[in-house]
Amino acid sequence: MKSPSQTNAIDFDSAKLQRLGFGQQQPSLERPVSLAKLRQQMSMQLQTSLEPQRILGLFFREVQRLVPLDALSYEHKSSDLRLEFGQRGHHSISYSLSHEGEHLGELVFRRNQRFSEQEQGNLESLLATLLYPMRNTLLYRAATQSALRDPLTDTGNRIAMDQTLQREIELSRRHQQPLSLLMLDIDHFKQINDTHGHSAGDDVLKAVAASIKNQLRNVDMVFRYGGEEFLILLSNTSREAAALVGERLRFAAQTEEYIADGRPIELTISLGCSTLLPGESAESLVRRADNALYVAKREGRNRLTMAG
Ligand code: GH3
Ligand code: MG
Ligand code: MG
Repeated sequence: MKSPSQTNAIDFDSAKLQRLGFGQQQPSLERPVSLAKLRQQMSMQLQTSLEPQRILGLFFREVQRLVPLDALSYEHKSSDLRLEFGQRGHHSISYSLSHEGEHLGELVFRRNQRFSEQEQGNLESLLATLLYPMRNTLLYRAATQSALRDPLTDTGNRIAMDQTLQREIELSRRHQQPLSLLMLDIDHFKQINDTHGHSAGDDVLKAVAASIKNQLRNVDMVFRYGGEEFLILLSNTSREAAALVGERLRFAAQTEEYIADGRPIELTISLGCSTLLPGESAESLVRRADNALYVAKREGRNRLTMAG
């Protein structure tokens, strides 16, 4: 008898034993496909994609030829990946997947009826088909993600910014939702470098990026635009709401204590804000925020200026 919820660990190294027949039950005749055949088919199918949604979607669909399910969820915390398929179910079995000590995520099978011993055995056997596809997709994801990030500040880089901006503009048009942009620049940053050294400047830059991300709902929308300039995309955010966010960031920078070379320093930021106009291009939206930032600098810094 299975309890409604149980947790198991699957180490793919020991799961190899199952490929040799260990733990394999005879499939009964009314089943649409044998375990061995299904494993063979799935091993081939799952290697055809590097997208985790597609791999796990196929897995969820194919597993059900042998073991009916109501839902499947997957989570890999360190790559910020969470996927769900199907509806919620009352009973669940969880697996923590690993291979050679490398964590490959948590998988939860759910359904309203409890799982039999045989079904659990089948699920465990079929899990082995996920090993290489999931390991490859996680490696691929890590590689593409690092190509899109700024290593110093752990914000998005210019490539990520261009892609995200294009996507967000399309989404904003399609859903008729406002899209705003903040361009942020640290005031007199050169002085910080000159006084405390470039390496202390780097530490301050990191701390400023961390404090920006701390203040925001969606940290994926912060990009390092230039040396000490950041661009923040605010989806579904009107001009008025963006002004509030900008002001909150300005206030946080001013009140937060930053450390350069072991000593606390004062620091302020200036911001320019623009909101997408009908038919406006990405370049124009960025340019208007940049112009507004220039005005904020000219008018004395430590302020937010709204684009006209
Ligand atoms: P303003 O208030 O007008 O923005 O003055 P500022 O000194 O911040 O502006 P300016 O654009 O003249 O200088 C920016 C400085 O930022 C110049 C450069 O030395 C420094 N900087 C740019 N990138 C980095 C970086 O990655 N690390 C460090 N430590 N400094 C950087
Ligand atoms: Mg500056
Ligand atoms: Mg600058």
